[in-house]
Amino acid sequence: MKTALAATATDFERSHESTYQHVFLMVEDNPADEALVKEMLSQAFDGKCHIVCVDRFEKITETLANGSFEVLILDMDLPDRSGVVNISELGLRFPDLPIVVLTGQDNFDVAVEALHNGAQDYLSKNDITPDMLSRSLYYARERKLIEQQLRHALEDSAYRNMQLEAQSKHDPLTGLPNRTYLHEAGNRVIFRAKRHKMSVALLFFDLNGFKKVNDSYGHLVGDELLKQLANRLEQEVRDSDLLARLGGDEFVVLTDLLHYDNEVYPLLTRLEQAFASPFVIEGSQLMMRTSIGVAFYPESDSLDLLLKNADFAMYEAKNATSSNVCFFTESMAEQFSRVHRIEQCLGKATSNAEFDVVFQPLLFTNNNSLSVEALVRWHSPELGSVPPDDFINLAERSPVINDITRLVVQKSATLLHHLNTLKKSIGTISINVCASQLEHPHFCDLFLHWLHEFRLPATKVCLELTERQIINKADDCKDQFDRLRREGITIALDDYGTGFSSLTHLLSLDIDLLKLDQFLIQQIDTQPRHQALVSGIVEMAKHMNIKVIAEGIEREEDLNVLTRIGVDGMQGFLIAKPLPLEDMVAFTQPHTLNV
Ligand code: C2E
Ligand code: CA
Ligand code: CA
Repeated sequence: MKTALAATATDFERSHESTYQHVFLMVEDNPADEALVKEMLSQAFDGKCHIVCVDRFEKITETLANGSFEVLILDMDLPDRSGVVNISELGLRFPDLPIVVLTGQDNFDVAVEALHNGAQDYLSKNDITPDMLSRSLYYARERKLIEQQLRHALEDSAYRNMQLEAQSKHDPLTGLPNRTYLHEAGNRVIFRAKRHKMSVALLFFDLNGFKKVNDSYGHLVGDELLKQLANRLEQEVRDSDLLARLGGDEFVVLTDLLHYDNEVYPLLTRLEQAFASPFVIEGSQLMMRTSIGVAFYPESDSLDLLLKNADFAMYEAKNATSSNVCFFTESMAEQFSRVHRIEQCLGKATSNAEFDVVFQPLLFTNNNSLSVEALVRWHSPELGSVPPDDFINLAERSPVINDITRLVVQKSATLLHHLNTLKKSIGTISINVCASQLEHPHFCDLFLHWLHEFRLPATKVCLELTERQIINKADDCKDQFDRLRREGITIALDDYGTGFSSLTHLLSLDIDLLKLDQFLIQQIDTQPRHQALVSGIVEMAKHMNIKVIAEGIEREEDLNVLTRIGVDGMQGFLIAKPLPLEDMVAFTQPHTLNV
């Protein structure tokens, strides 16, 4: 089978209707050459061809504009312009026009140059035949066609590559730039800021309670919410600022160069504007809030640091009650680096046996019985003694929290076994757990397994959980609490009075103990309102069969007031500080309060 390129001029002719006229444009200033070529072509095409001839380069454009030509036959040496540059210029202006160079100079180098500059063929006037000429014209057309197809294919693939590239830098859900895009564009902005000695702000924000929307309404609603939010944000953010979605409900705005940091205020106001009205999705109205963390270049001197610091500030904003915007500060930076170091050291604390457990006595006033609360201690070789308040919330986000609880169970069992050997009695041993642990569906099994492993009877265990932690997770906690209570474990609600002090939690969760936070207890003798509140809680709890314990008692005066009010249990430095295991064993004697 013949390929298109292997076809001959005869095939070329046959393939056309007998009435078909081939039309060529010839650029030739020599009338003798013009006549020669016309004659040859007439022979080759049986007279079925028409040749328009012009004698100047400048006439080509106009002639091409007024007619349609299969091939341009070009003499390179024209009176007004000569050289291969003619070819490249024509190629640029008429990219679809095949060009055959017909010249008097039979020079190989010029021929190659002509082809490089876009001609499809190069013929010498001195040795052409009609057949050779017609074949050359045919091949020129075919080559041009293939060239065009190749060009289109390349353009298509370049376009597809551009599309792929664009997709890889945009978030498919909202169409906003993604993290990759932010990194590229962000580094450029920072580079400019450095050169102009100016500032840049990075605003990091997310939707408060977005997880709850996903959990309650499903992911489709969550996605729609994100899309609507992205639309609103796009309206509020100027074109010169960069809005990106990092993933989930996390968004970032990186500003253009700022002269002063406070130029960011209008943007903050506009961002908050995006949350001013409810989002309407499938007939539901969702009112959303945001928390925004802000960090500035040059204080945070790379994009990574801007992101990290603004993210940190956003978490501070979430914890703050006064404002939903938080600016990253120097002291926050120090705190942040300490948090970072703690996180790093925590990873190896379990395997290095750096954790220990101490026990703080807890006295029940009606029968003078003694219980204890087990509290973890961390002695880090690098950081020294780290208070639990500084690391528990970090441990909570990793498996370390379970290592801690397991150790606390183990040490509590050791304490109980020591006391049993010495025939000393004790009420319950309180073990603190985090709500994030209870969220895990198998936590109960794990915890009961540890009790079994270390032979600690469930009836000797009280689980303490702070109200602050329970807030969004009351449902998760309830099922687990019920299961643990059925095993005989006592449940205490810790730090009551610091958070929402919700009565609903008291109603919905079956709890046995309420631990009043030190904040309500300390200096209570001088605070009539605290006294009134504590009396009210004690009265209410009595009717609900819940025992009330006062924590953080440091002064006799406080102890006296609390005894008068009638709290059930007392805990604090006045009674005893948290003690190492051996000291706790020694401390365990029948105790009476000397009030
Ligand atoms: P918490 O459960 O409220 O524990 C009582 C905290 O108050 C303990 O601090 C204790 O040392 C301190 N305290 C007791 N009496 C007094 C007093 O009279 N005055 C003052 N100023 N403080 C007193 P600690 O040991 O630093 O623990 C802090 C928090 O860390 C605990 O608060 C608890 O929420 C958490 N935590 C401690 N150990 C564990 C643990 O093993 N697991 C978990 N999940 N959390 C723990
Ligand atoms: Ca506690
Ligand atoms: Ca507490």
